[in-house]
Amino acid sequence: MSGRAVHLYPWDGGTEADQDPPEHVYCGTDGDMADEQLTNDWRYVTCKRCLNIHEKELAARAADDRDQKIKLFDEAQAITITLGHRNISTAIKALLRERDELRHERDNLRLDRDGLLEAGAHLL
Ligand SMILES: [Zn+2]
Repeated sequence: MSGRAVHLYPWDGGTEADQDPPEHVYCGTDGDMADEQLTNDWRYVTCKRCLNIHEKELAARAADDRDQKIKLFDEAQAITITLGHRNISTAIKALLRERDELRHERDNLRLDRDGLLEAGAHLL
């Protein structure tokens, strides 16, 4: 057991066009590395530099996700404000209620129509 840090070595065997393994481990540390110091799996990485970079990337991704969520929220709210609701949930509930009322109205109209057709059938 060498006790040396295990680095992430992100190589999946390459593609047909690019068979070359990467020159560096994830954190860019130089030097000869034994096979057991390289892993493709974050669960086995012990190198602090690799882990720090990974953590920053995850944080950046989380921030991107948050920004995207806020953007989508703003877009949705811009729509609901034109419907008279600042609160998106309230707007959706109002729309669902309206949909149900319209469906009910449509069903009543169908019943009326069917009744009229039946009543007038003998005139044909
Ligand atoms: Zn490393």
